[in-house]
Amino acid sequence: MVSTVRTNRSERLESNRTIKQNYLLIRGVRRLYCGSGDIQGKSVEIEGEAAQGVNCNDCDGQRYDIYALVGVEDLLGLNP
Ligand SMILES: [Zn+2]
Repeated sequence: MVSTVRTNRSERLESNRTIKQNYLLIRGVRRLYCGSGDIQGKSVEIEGEAAQGVNCNDCDGQRYDIYALVGVEDLLGLNP
């Protein structure tokens, strides 16, 4: 029984990981679990990391998209 519970938990964690990886591949344009494209983003909050609350209008699901700094450009071009 214990091993069954562990297996189910392990399978659930793996399934969640796969769903999240697929979500990142499509760059978050669909709801994480239900797949709906009817989503609405809230304002972006930056406190140590940037995060945006996103609601699904189909299933009332909610998530936080977390953003990372991936590049920088010098707008004035004065510094190499
Ligand atoms: Zn949904």
